[in-house]
Amino acid sequence: MIFKTDLNYRKQALVKLLLNVQKKEAEIIQALYDDFKKPAFEAVATETSYIVSELEYTIKNLKKWAKPQRVLPSFLNFPSTDYLYKEPYGKVLVISPWNYPYQLALAPLIAAVAAGNQVVVKPSELAENTSRIIAEIIAASFEEQHVQCVLGGVEVSQNLLSQRWDYIFFTGSVAVGKIVAQAAATHLTPVTLELGGKNPCIIDESADLKLAAKRIVWGKFLNAGQTCIAPDYLLVHEHIKPKLIEYLKAEIILAYGENPQESTDFPRIINEKNWKRQLQLLENQTVIFGGQSDVSDFYLAPTLVDEPSLDSLVMQEEIFGPILPILGYTSETDLEKIIVRYEKPLSLYVFTQRKSFAQKIITRFSFGGGCINDTVIHFANKRLPFGGVGHSGIGAYHGKRSFELFSHNKPIVKKATWLDIPLRYAPYQGKLSGLKKMLKWFS
Ligand code: NAD
Repeated sequence: MIFKTDLNYRKQALVKLLLNVQKKEAEIIQALYDDFKKPAFEAVATETSYIVSELEYTIKNLKKWAKPQRVLPSFLNFPSTDYLYKEPYGKVLVISPWNYPYQLALAPLIAAVAAGNQVVVKPSELAENTSRIIAEIIAASFEEQHVQCVLGGVEVSQNLLSQRWDYIFFTGSVAVGKIVAQAAATHLTPVTLELGGKNPCIIDESADLKLAAKRIVWGKFLNAGQTCIAPDYLLVHEHIKPKLIEYLKAEIILAYGENPQESTDFPRIINEKNWKRQLQLLENQTVIFGGQSDVSDFYLAPTLVDEPSLDSLVMQEEIFGPILPILGYTSETDLEKIIVRYEKPLSLYVFTQRKSFAQKIITRFSFGGGCINDTVIHFANKRLPFGGVGHSGIGAYHGKRSFELFSHNKPIVKKATWLDIPLRYAPYQGKLSGLKKMLKWFS
């Protein structure tokens, strides 16, 4: 098939996609608003500009990335030149979620196409307006046998998963991630699973509290908390907890006003089911700020919860909404006891002025990625791989790594014919000591 190998074909397809996403930007922003009142600023900052940048970067570097990569040969093969060929897997399935519905469907698609694969994308049924525009963009940009967008819900996803694929890229919940992994196992299909978890955010006594509060409020309430790498809960040193809480309240008011329901900058919960789940998480909790809700537009205010029991629902499930539990700690042992209760999270944040403390935290705990003195922004660097570890995911992408992810690295040794060292050939008699010497020299 021409599109599997022809670099020009891939490049032209991506250029066409770039033109179409630029042409449709206003429609995408509107669709994201219609789906859950995502503000235009957030739509541009976290969805449309990200895709344009990923496309431009990929188009610019495609030729370089796709070229067979020369690697140092082994002396044991002397004389040879050794390469890694970048081979497309073949048929790729991309299943994406609703929270960043545009970006999380298109980013893997761009990389899979760049690497030379055929792709089927199944966006989320919950962000139906955005998914419809994604389907229009894909239909306008690609030949049908190259890339297709399939719309629909769980049954459509299940049907796709029952088919044979050469690679599956899934972004979504841990529970569905397990279903995807099981389906992939039937045909030993490689998978990337971009999942979620309970992301801790630690604030120690030395932190710049006002700045920490500002950055936590931004990262937590962006997209109304419906962000896989949002801080899920705070672990705050007891000495500074009251002060931090005051700053958090002030920053929420500064960002969204006294009544966030009236703010054009605060999105809604995606649907009634998820809205009800958020309210359930608040049952029997000590709400110290926010908590107001309105079913008519699935609104829940930015909400602070003080000292929830670790056995309560809000400390058991990934929150994925605008609720921020705050727990005090006094010693590093307290921190450890809480963090290790959970599966390895997708991200972890630590606010501190003490380098040694930050170092200790980021090396002591296993997590997908994170920040020191900020939240969420590690996502934005193309040179940092994005992905989870353990239950928060398998594999990582972004930038060049996305291209690598959708390419099989095929090692090839090109052996010269002008010399043929006889040592390896039978009969072996009298050659063992020579072999041992050679292995010692070149190991
Ligand atoms: P989800 O797992 O419910 O759905 C994701 C996709 O899977 C959708 O397209 C859906 O149609 C499909 N699906 C749902 N149930 C299925 C089933 N039983 N069988 C087959 N397919 C099924 O996730 P969601 O609610 O859309 O998104 C929220 C979750 O995604 C959160 O846990 C969040 O942390 C995670 N997430 C992770 C990342 C990341 O990059 N790691 C990014 C965004 C969201």
